[in-house]
Amino acid sequence: DKPKSMIMVIFGASGDLTRRKLMPALYLLYKLKKLPVNFAVLGVARTQYTDEEYRERINLQLHRFLKAEDLNESLIDSFVNMLHYFSMDPSNPNDYLHLQPKLLELDTKIESGEHYLYYLATPPSLYGVIPQYLKNVGLNLDKGVRGKKRIVVEKPFGYNLDSALELNNVYYKDAFREDQIFRIDHYLGKETVQNIMALRFANSIFEPVWNRNYIDHIEITAVENMGVEQRGGYFDETGTLRDMVQNHLIQLVAITAMEPPMAFNEDSFRDEVAKVYQSLTPLTEKDMHEHIVRGQYVASENKKGYREEKDVDPLSRTETYVAMKLGISNWRWNSVPFYIRTGKQMPTKVSEIIVHFKPTPFLLFNCSDKQCPTANQLIIRILPDEGIVLKFTMKVPGAGFEVKQVAMDFSYKSLGSLPSEDAYVRLIEDCMIGDPTLFTRSDAVEASWRFFTPVLNFWETHPEIPVYGYPAGTWGPKESEAMMQEHGVQWINPCKN
Ligand code: NAP
Repeated sequence: DKPKSMIMVIFGASGDLTRRKLMPALYLLYKLKKLPVNFAVLGVARTQYTDEEYRERINLQLHRFLKAEDLNESLIDSFVNMLHYFSMDPSNPNDYLHLQPKLLELDTKIESGEHYLYYLATPPSLYGVIPQYLKNVGLNLDKGVRGKKRIVVEKPFGYNLDSALELNNVYYKDAFREDQIFRIDHYLGKETVQNIMALRFANSIFEPVWNRNYIDHIEITAVENMGVEQRGGYFDETGTLRDMVQNHLIQLVAITAMEPPMAFNEDSFRDEVAKVYQSLTPLTEKDMHEHIVRGQYVASENKKGYREEKDVDPLSRTETYVAMKLGISNWRWNSVPFYIRTGKQMPTKVSEIIVHFKPTPFLLFNCSDKQCPTANQLIIRILPDEGIVLKFTMKVPGAGFEVKQVAMDFSYKSLGSLPSEDAYVRLIEDCMIGDPTLFTRSDAVEASWRFFTPVLNFWETHPEIPVYGYPAGTWGPKESEAMMQEHGVQWINPCKN
């Protein structure tokens, strides 16, 4: 249930995520009357602002980042009045001695009952110390029935398996219970990702064929047409495997491949996700040579190359593109390849999953389109043009018996207008209610890192493994095509929007 009162403490309140995502999401929740009745935000960062200056700044940014149809001046004014600001250095334990009385002061004002939601939107290097320093001053402790404490952590949760284990077991376990920790993966907040579960588990026609007997391979693409923008420094330390594959893409694999949960609740759903991660077929060195392709965009036409971006090392070998083949060792999926790819500076921004069914055992008819075999495909479009397309084969009208593939197209828009809110709206609301279903549990984070850390180590110890250049604005290195040829298939590039 929605709590009656709460203070949300945002660490990193002067940063990009806060202005672009968190504040617009909070405003939309306010507009939808979904915020607690007694609600305040305490923004925390080192930059000095008075409450007034901070409110003005957020007011301006809301105008910049919200859609015109969502802007309502009087609502914005009353929303920003709920914002407060406290200047401190979150990496300095002594500053928390001042945070505590500041919170109590605000608490008295809005009668929050010491119900605090901490949101960590700082550089990841502070993700470990903040819970510890909160604990030092007792700000981790629940107070009575109302005064709950929860902590939301942004991605990336860890840098590899060891750091994720350390975060979970040393820094978090000691200060918060698992049910108080919300590791955010904004892909799970997307309506269309949740809709994959409806497609699979609210329809009886797909489940019987959703396995190795009928499915040939699965393709998952999540690409964007932008470069690193202002985040070159962060990205150059991180790379695509950590930034996208280890969390978002693997979530999409899990939702596509998971067994039906017993119920749609935090335990059952997250048990099934964790089982998929645990069943990923460990990669051998041969797989890492042959089934993973790294790329980096290079200048083309009027687009900069990655190494020319601000705050990027001019000799950087950080990957901006990854394509790989994964296997899942279980009864349902054994020997079905999952091909996943993600990259920056691609021709378009699109996320979609294509389930390729096996061809008919024997083809009676001529196919008019040699490029496009008659095997059925189910395309789940996550963005843009959210929807589902089923491709199947029909007779071409007229004499003879030629067949061709046609599409049965469902657009999500036909259900009514798509919610205009971003995934953050849904996820912040879930944190407030205390529903962790769509957040990553510690065992899943660890299983994912356990699978991908050997790849990171392999790259680090094998500098001869190439990072292929691809011209900005193209579909990535041609080597990623070669990777699929051994299975006799190729990537299906979505239409450019
Ligand atoms: P950012 O723009 O660099 O903001 C970082 C914030 O942390 C600033 O408010 C900064 O403010 C504060 N900070 C406090 N102590 C700091 C310190 N010791 N060093 C540097 N900054 C310190 O970063 P961001 O893009 O908002 O990202 C925040 C977190 O969210 C990151 O972990 C990122 O991985 C994650 N994330 C971001 C996005 C996004 O779209 N931006 C998306 C997904 C995840 P002061 O300098 O005033 O202290």
